Amino acid sequence: MPLMNGKEYIESLKKMKPVVYLFGEKIENPSEHPVIIPSRNAVAMTYELAHDPKYEELMTAVSNITGEKVNRFTHIYQTKEDLIKKVKMARLLGQKTATCFQRCTTMDTANALYIVTKEMDEKLGTEYHKRFVEFMKEVQTKDLNVGVAMTDVKGDRSLRPHEQKDKDLYLRVVRKNSDGIIVRGAKANQSGSINVHYTFVAPTCAMREEDKEYAVAFVVPSDEKGIIHIYGRQFSDSRKLEGCKIDVGNYRFGAQETVMIFDDVFVPWERVFLCGEYEWAGRIPYLFGSNHRQTYGGCKAGVSDVLIGAVALLAEYNGLMKFPHIREKLIEMVWLTETIYCCGIAAGVEGERTSAGTYFTNLLLGNVCKLNVAKLPYRMAELAVDIAGGIIGTLPSEKDFFHPEAGKYLDKYLQGKEGVKTENKIRIIRLIENLLFGLGAVGYMVESMQGAGPPEAQRSMINRLVNWDEKKKLAKEIAGIKED
Ligand code: SF4
Ligand code: FE
Repeated sequence: MPLMNGKEYIESLKKMKPVVYLFGEKIENPSEHPVIIPSRNAVAMTYELAHDPKYEELMTAVSNITGEKVNRFTHIYQTKEDLIKKVKMARLLGQKTATCFQRCTTMDTANALYIVTKEMDEKLGTEYHKRFVEFMKEVQTKDLNVGVAMTDVKGDRSLRPHEQKDKDLYLRVVRKNSDGIIVRGAKANQSGSINVHYTFVAPTCAMREEDKEYAVAFVVPSDEKGIIHIYGRQFSDSRKLEGCKIDVGNYRFGAQETVMIFDDVFVPWERVFLCGEYEWAGRIPYLFGSNHRQTYGGCKAGVSDVLIGAVALLAEYNGLMKFPHIREKLIEMVWLTETIYCCGIAAGVEGERTSAGTYFTNLLLGNVCKLNVAKLPYRMAELAVDIAGGIIGTLPSEKDFFHPEAGKYLDKYLQGKEGVKTENKIRIIRLIENLLFGLGAVGYMVESMQGAGPPEAQRSMINRLVNWDEKKKLAKEIAGIKED
């Protein structure tokens, strides 16, 4: 089956019937809703670019499962080159969409599950890997988009899953029968859960024996009976309903986040990849998290490229480029962006072969990469606001700009340097606003901090991975310290 292009992907979504609530209403055709369309378009780009000969090498790979050409977003990493290419691909998509294009979760989770299920089958004699590979065959052949639901809603964070007063605050198995399992719970911050064909579901953290019923991983169609998606509000989202284009900033592309409810959802055994083996529960988010943290080195660098371009353009429109401090600030933005990117690339270069035969990101560098992502875009935002000026928080609506009376004043008094159309200046101001404070902020600022786990999760991983004794030994040697 040939790979889908953007149009075919959008058509494929129309056949799905997910239950979606948005602004207090149940939405009939979610993929056609004006608030949802931009996020769907962002995913469609991951399909479309795979058909562009210019990007084919980056966007596609040869599958170890089917032996056929697949979209790289569904690929199991076979070489270090694959780890490097996924970061380059993410940067490209970040540049083309200026938002979260949501599909990296397919490859980053699939690669984690590929390893963990293989380890389990070898050690426990289960058949999880066989089931998983069977499912991936379908994903690769039909070129499907698979989301990941990992972040439980967690209730009282100081309590373990089984200690919660309400037992459903971490997703759990409530019943089992000969056909499969029935699960209940909710997952928060679900990137693109309505724009996928299937959703991988996995534990959010390590589990102990008492939490056994919470140690569950599986895959379900995103429109399975009992699944409800409740749309997350985004900054300035109602602008999309006002018929605005300029005021939205980036009206073609956007991110999507939902709360995903699992109200007694049935999952057949052939789609279950972990059920009760609590010792393995933590390994899935551990591997997924590190994988995804490396990918951020690409996507956030790509979005930063757009931000730098927008700020440089506005500085140019305002006649600011002759001032050395403006150039210095722009250079700092480039330096920060390349720091994010090179750490993602390095995590691939230093990636290692796993016992499952796949390649996996360097854990330490993958986590350092995400820690950079949690910090550096905030400095970039500071620089962007500094260069852009107060207007990014005070600009009147495009409706005033195009108003027969008010418009002529705005056109005259908001102009930049000679020869620049005021409308172009307004467009670029709105794009910067979108990226830093508006709709794009969800995929750039907020996600940079919280996506693939908050900075504290990376710090704790770094703490586990660093060989402190070796570093102390180095210092002792240099300092001439000899201890008995
Ligand atoms: Fe991909 Fe980045 Fe979105 Fe994660 S945050 S799904 S890596 S675009
Ligand atoms: Fe994300």
